[in-house]
Amino acid sequence: MTEDVINRIRQEFPNLPERLLGLGEMAENLWWSWHPAARMVFKSLNRQVWKESLHNPDKTLKEIPTETLAEVAQDPDFLRHYDLVLSQYHKYLEKGICSMLSDTCDSDRPGIAYFSAEYGLHHSLPFYAGGLGFLAGDFIKECSDLQVPIVAVGFMYPEGYVLQRIREDGWQENLDQPLDREAASINRVLNRDGNQMVVRVPVIEPPTFVSVWKVDVGRVELYLLDTDIEVNEPWNRSISARLYSGDIEQRLRQEIVLGIGGMEVLEKLGIKFSVLHLNEGHAAFALLERIRDHIQAGLTFTEARKAVSGSTVFTTHTPVPAGHDIFPFELMGKYFHDYCTSLGLDHDSFLQLGIHPDEPQSGFNMTAFALRISGYCNGVSNRHGEVARKMWQNLWPEAGAEHVPIDFVTNGVHVPTWIEPKMELLFNKYLGPEWLKEHNNPYIWELIDEIPDGELWDTHMWLKIKLIDAIRERARRRWIEDRLNPSLMVSGGTLLDPTVLTIGFARRFTTYKRADLILYDLERLKKLLTDRWQPIQIIFAGKAHPADDPGKRILQRIVNTARDPEYGGRIAFVEDYGEQFAQYMVHGVDVWLNNPLPPLEACGTSGMKASLNGVPSLSILDGWWHEGYNGKNGWAFGNEKVEGNRDKTDAEAIYRLLEEKIIPLYYRSRNHEISHGWVAVMKEAIKTCGSQFSARRMVLEYLNKFYEKALQNRVPD
Ligand SMILES: *Cc1c(COP(=O)(O)O)cnc(C)c1O
Repeated sequence: MTEDVINRIRQEFPNLPERLLGLGEMAENLWWSWHPAARMVFKSLNRQVWKESLHNPDKTLKEIPTETLAEVAQDPDFLRHYDLVLSQYHKYLEKGICSMLSDTCDSDRPGIAYFSAEYGLHHSLPFYAGGLGFLAGDFIKECSDLQVPIVAVGFMYPEGYVLQRIREDGWQENLDQPLDREAASINRVLNRDGNQMVVRVPVIEPPTFVSVWKVDVGRVELYLLDTDIEVNEPWNRSISARLYSGDIEQRLRQEIVLGIGGMEVLEKLGIKFSVLHLNEGHAAFALLERIRDHIQAGLTFTEARKAVSGSTVFTTHTPVPAGHDIFPFELMGKYFHDYCTSLGLDHDSFLQLGIHPDEPQSGFNMTAFALRISGYCNGVSNRHGEVARKMWQNLWPEAGAEHVPIDFVTNGVHVPTWIEPKMELLFNKYLGPEWLKEHNNPYIWELIDEIPDGELWDTHMWLKIKLIDAIRERARRRWIEDRLNPSLMVSGGTLLDPTVLTIGFARRFTTYKRADLILYDLERLKKLLTDRWQPIQIIFAGKAHPADDPGKRILQRIVNTARDPEYGGRIAFVEDYGEQFAQYMVHGVDVWLNNPLPPLEACGTSGMKASLNGVPSLSILDGWWHEGYNGKNGWAFGNEKVEGNRDKTDAEAIYRLLEEKIIPLYYRSRNHEISHGWVAVMKEAIKTCGSQFSARRMVLEYLNKFYEKALQNRVPD
């Protein structure tokens, strides 16, 4: 540790004895979040404090009594583990970020700048809404593991966390829970004078400033912009208050701050990079700043655009119209009036950059803009690539649909983050202790067959019980603290039974995901739920966007069905879905249900997380399941075209698969034997996900398909 770091740690954690300063150091880097041994060190300080802190090392260290710390500093058992983990942490950091791409990268110049409006890294950092955020979080964690030279930029959302509460009538309420910036693994970025760095965002009038924070994600630095500072006027202060403001003008201002402000922050930090990667269109205004930089260096607009194009990667993430921001021309005029001039463009040619030819009057379309300017574009699954090429075909009128320059890289999940630690130990035993280091070697996954069925099943059962315990514990708290109506205790999951076949459904409650599809024919479902010998149960979780009333209605219908005694307490809705509960869910249910309206799920990643832990999918053929389903690793339906409303067809397909395939296979056991047929499906699910749907495979594909080429095109300073 440098003297600076030591002093900072001493200041931040005044109660830490010198012998344990390394705890402060580790608490400040999210490396702990994907290294269970590191989490164990914090947990072993004091289980209760750890639990109360919601597994947050920073908070744990701040709240733990000084005497406890003094005691453990003398405890040889504790110190042995502490010293080992700390040395592993140091070893991890020693290796810089340049081993990949070593010929195109030097240590003072990260190769790639990655911009994203959300990052899902850990539940203590509420900077995500759903899949897009977790994709970005998993992506930079994997870049850290692979030593890919990347720097990331995003938003600090001080009100990012809205607690979900279900009201007496089953309606979702949102309670604000302002983030305590001091009790999380986030640090201020300081100027030389010791004050926090504050940067003025170009373009926005009245002047707007962002303060700069940093999250260390292993070897990767993630810079966060925060407009909630005193120098800003109130309206500007709230620009970064929360994700995806519903107010269109505020939304535009958010995107200006992220794209243009983000570029300015990198500049002020002295961070140079060669390739820009835009994770979805929210940050696409960064492209304008890059063009402007080149123009200031003497290029014409056309030359500058070409240079930027050759070194930009853009990933589009959804075919859902609401996922693409379109800003009215008047608003664009209001904010970019002078900016166009600095690009050497008149107002009209500027607006042309963001026009979607299919609806030229609708406004400035951020995705159309990003696709036009970026030289390397991709969707997030094979199928989504096809859908995106059709959707944006008219941006390239001269190309046939198959020649539209939108490629694909299928998403993947960060294996060390999503593998359950007990499952990891089991794999250590049969795949060899190096399996995690080498998890992109497909041969490793063949060794899954070595695991005795009984051991895999026992591990799974243990995780299922853990899930149900966690649900009961949450319900108990609500029972004590809020004296809830008992029927809400039932819908909260208190009657769940670990011996029953358990289906999980958890994701954002947005209409296209059709959370209530399985309730389509309640009579037929009721028979399955309440069968005397072979019942099933369903656990739901997920939040509707605070402005999404149709989403809230679906949620209300599920809650009110769950509390109806007709269904035997075998449906549960668990409040406040986030990263922590997602971990329990994807580890602990038996089947992962996924039934969006095709082709709207660009990829989907929660099914991959489940599959990795031996939880097979029952999924419609959309997104990743087109590539993932192999006939043995789960169940598929819905490939056929249906005219009009397809809910009935799809719901019936789900009932049929449950009745004819899934339930009989699950309960097929004699004399208290386990169902070997079921365990075979579990094993196949693990193999598919491990070898094909890891973030490691994904990041390497971005490298091979785009980054290496884009780095060749970089413009020397
Ligand atoms: C993985 C994940 C998601 C994304 O799930 P999809 O299946 O892609 O919708 C959303 N929320 C949380 C908390 C997650 O962990």
